[in-house]
Amino acid sequence: MADTKDYGKPAHARDAREVSHWDSETDVVIVGLGGAGCCAALEARAAGAEVIALERAWKGGGTSAQASGQLYLGGGTALQKACGFEDDPEEMFKYLVASCGPGADEEKIRVFCERSAEHYDWMIGQGVPFKETFLPVEIGTDPYGDDGLSYTGSELAWPFREIAKPAPRGHTAQQEGENAGQLMMDLLLANVERAGVTVLTDALCEPLIMDADGAVVGVVATVGGEEKCIRARRGVILTAGGYIHNKAMLDRYAPVTRRARFRLGCDGDDGRGIRMGMGAGGDAIRMEAACIVVPFSRNRQFVKGVLVNRAGQRFCSEDLYQSLLGEIGMWREDGRVWLVLDDALYEQPQLPTEIAAVGETFEELEREAGVFPPGSLTHTLETYNANAARGEDPLFHKESRWLQPLSKPPFVVLDLTLEKYPFWSAFTLGGLHTLPTGEAIDPDGDVIPGLYAAGRNASGLPAHGYNSGLSLADATFSGRLAGTAAAKRRG
Ligand SMILES: Cc1cc2nc3c(=O)[nH]c(=O)nc-3n(C[C@H](O)[C@H](O)[C@H](O)COP(=O)(O)OP(=O)(O)OC[C@H]3O[C@@H](n4cnc5c(N)ncnc54)[C@H](O)[C@@H]3O)c2cc1C
Repeated sequence: MADTKDYGKPAHARDAREVSHWDSETDVVIVGLGGAGCCAALEARAAGAEVIALERAWKGGGTSAQASGQLYLGGGTALQKACGFEDDPEEMFKYLVASCGPGADEEKIRVFCERSAEHYDWMIGQGVPFKETFLPVEIGTDPYGDDGLSYTGSELAWPFREIAKPAPRGHTAQQEGENAGQLMMDLLLANVERAGVTVLTDALCEPLIMDADGAVVGVVATVGGEEKCIRARRGVILTAGGYIHNKAMLDRYAPVTRRARFRLGCDGDDGRGIRMGMGAGGDAIRMEAACIVVPFSRNRQFVKGVLVNRAGQRFCSEDLYQSLLGEIGMWREDGRVWLVLDDALYEQPQLPTEIAAVGETFEELEREAGVFPPGSLTHTLETYNANAARGEDPLFHKESRWLQPLSKPPFVVLDLTLEKYPFWSAFTLGGLHTLPTGEAIDPDGDVIPGLYAAGRNASGLPAHGYNSGLSLADATFSGRLAGTAAAKRRG
């Protein structure tokens, strides 16, 4: 597991004047060979730069290789068209700005939406396969089969469906099961090698090297146990992932996220890249932001149930996407949420879930649960039922396809509280402040010459409010932009 003794402090850059000997020299150095790193390397090579990629593990791939292989793309991709859906960059922009905030970077979202369809074509060009089939909303969002397109956000839920025309934007690489990320990364890594990138594994980077003018000119890496100084004539791109496995950094920057027990990321997600950037004058922003998932809706019909907080009251619509629900549940409800179902909806949960209460009536259910103020749950369920019978949800505007009165006893309360439900999962979204080009900027907003960051090393498209597929899409896309920008820089 990652070494966490550094408490999230900056990893101060080494002065180039102290470097007596450069072990290697190249145009662009990539730190970390996951999704962002591979795409940065490929585009830097395509722009004619010589590239060295340094990866601390024995093999590239990172968290991207553990992923489900969903990429959030749209604006009229070839896959959306093949599946019969219309979309355009403006609708996608409106949706992402509304769902990824507060604090979402509108400039980055704009560029991403305008080039999203092209990014899909680029992935196809890399050999990543996508099956031209759509996974119906009622079946799910998670890629259990190999369907290419699905809804992986809250586009159909209120208020988003009124803000932007909904379209499915989850593009999943074709692979049966949940590890299409591995397939995608195997293909990208093979392309990186074919493109002539020099890849060094077992190469742990820290810190950066800066010259007297404040430009980043290289990196220190421990390769096979030996310290090497590697010079970058044009730039260093930090693509070393997030910091979900650095508990000290979580304590410092994201104590709410720290409460999620299931931490999503490879061992390398210890924040080193972010600290290296800070140590060269970079600004780390939105550090509290995270994707937090409460995955009860793997049983799709559970969306027809009623989520309540410790006051026995609903607090949001149950058809919001599982990551937005996770954030709301964690930030606003302190991770204290329960799901109420009736016998018509109940089935064996896909993830083991404790039953907090069973009752033939709402009153009995509430009494047995013993955690809600007297009368509160009963009132919530009676109100919900009366409205649902009319096909309405005046409180949270749940979509009518999910509205159904809970009328068939016995009723059941599933315990989704943090204490009892270990599947609250999270990865970090905060990181270095960059321009859409990937250029890192300092707290004054000035570009740090020679320094770039992409993927979870940077604060990217989402801040608060995550849609599945956005991290991989952002990592691969921002990696490409950073690779091009670094290759074109004249140091
Ligand atoms: C089970 C699971 C499923 C997921 N599914 C999805 C999904 O379907 N869609 C989606 O969008 N997101 C998904 N995510 C999240 C997503 O995979 C990551 O957020 C994303 O892949 C991060 O990409 P990256 O390129 O920034 O980092 P990574 O892919 O993690 O790459 C970073 C690389 O840098 C290396 N590194 C770290 N520090 C150093 C150092 N100091 N020196 C050298 N190398 C270093 C690491 O070893 C790693 O190889 C999932 C995550 C998990 C765990």
